Amino acid sequence: MKRLVLAGAGHAHLHVLRALAETPWSGVEVVLVTPHPRQIYSGMVPGWIAGHYHLDECVAPILPLAQAAGVRTVQGAVCGLDADRRSVSLQDGRTIAFDVLSLDTGAGIAMDAGVARHPGLLPVRPLESFVAQWTQALPMLLSDVHARVAVVGGGAAGVELALALAYRLGRESGPAAPRVTLACGGGPLRGHARGVVRRARAALAQQGVELIEQRVSFGASGLETAAGEPLAAAWVIAATGVAPPDWLAASGLALAPDGLIAVGQGQQSVSHANVFAAGDVASRIDAPHAKSGVYAVRAGPVLSRNLQRALAGHPPAPYQPQRRSLYLLATGPREAIVSWGPFAASGRFAWRWKDWIDRRFMRQYQSAPAARCRGDAPSG
Ligand SMILES: Cc1cc2nc3c(=O)[nH]c(=O)nc-3n(C[C@H](O)[C@H](O)[C@H](O)COP(=O)(O)OP(=O)(O)OC[C@H]3O[C@@H](n4cnc5c(N)ncnc54)[C@H](O)[C@@H]3O)c2cc1C
Repeated sequence: MKRLVLAGAGHAHLHVLRALAETPWSGVEVVLVTPHPRQIYSGMVPGWIAGHYHLDECVAPILPLAQAAGVRTVQGAVCGLDADRRSVSLQDGRTIAFDVLSLDTGAGIAMDAGVARHPGLLPVRPLESFVAQWTQALPMLLSDVHARVAVVGGGAAGVELALALAYRLGRESGPAAPRVTLACGGGPLRGHARGVVRRARAALAQQGVELIEQRVSFGASGLETAAGEPLAAAWVIAATGVAPPDWLAASGLALAPDGLIAVGQGQQSVSHANVFAAGDVASRIDAPHAKSGVYAVRAGPVLSRNLQRALAGHPPAPYQPQRRSLYLLATGPREAIVSWGPFAASGRFAWRWKDWIDRRFMRQYQSAPAARCRGDAPSG
């Protein structure tokens, strides 16, 4: 019997688990390695911070899904991979051999070494730690009107988080709410259409978020802007993009220039035919695309098909990621911005759309039996 190891229960692997629950794959032992028994859905985290969701609405319990799929779950985190010897090692010292390996562990966070030294640092990844840290920080922030929170990073996650927490703090503390700053060299939402950026700037102004369009670093006096101005924030939320997990460098896998796993069409490693990867931990060499949940979700069906093909000794089927994707960006209150290539719109309708898509996506994994599930994608 061949052994397939699924490392991480990220977006693409949720789909693989569901596919296994619908139709078991014969002659295969499937092992899932996951550090947590649940997967927090990042797309709903800004809505949770804003106070629109309870945390359990944003969470997919993994164990019932794995059980329905006939998959053995190993609680732990991969901390080493020997691709040539076909084994992964876990933090607790165990090793697991595989015939075929699929990696969907997400990535770490790319951070200035200086910013990483900040005593009030809350990195957005891993999401489990961020959610735990934010839960502890919120009451402290609400009881200290002089506090200031800085969000570093002007991508979709940074903008949504700055807006969500400014809205939440303002709603709970009124005009005396702690100040929120968004620091992003190059401005917010680079790469999105001008109309989207304009709407985001207006939303930031409306929520009272101070925008600093400079890189920040950790200088002699603490956090400071590139112009040398101090940024005296007690809390710093780092949403500064993805970085490869430490253990990839010595894995023997071919890596892309960004240090992530180099995969080709079919999400197959370009160096090891029995290794597949999807989501933020992988970079498509032939068709580069943004790191986002939308692409991680879309890779699920092809990953599932190609893992079966690899186990049967067949070459992978090709898959072309979409060139552009729909983003629905929450702006604090129950409103959102639509970003689709050059198209921009915003309002309550966009929030209702996002909320409907996200809840429908989560329902697929929150309720057994998995056999009822369909391949819906999240809002982006
Ligand atoms: C606040 C926030 C909001 C966002 N909003 C959006 C959005 O609206 N739309 C969008 O498209 N993107 C959004 N993103 C980006 C999106 O979260 C990521 O691109 C997406 O989560 C990547 O999915 P993934 O499957 O690669 O990994 P993840 O979703 O990170 O899942 C990785 C899984 O692997 C597990 N894992 C981690 N390390 C290990 C290990 N060593 N061994 C085993 N398992 C491990 C984790 O516990 C987790 O279950 C947002 C990000 C953040 C931080």
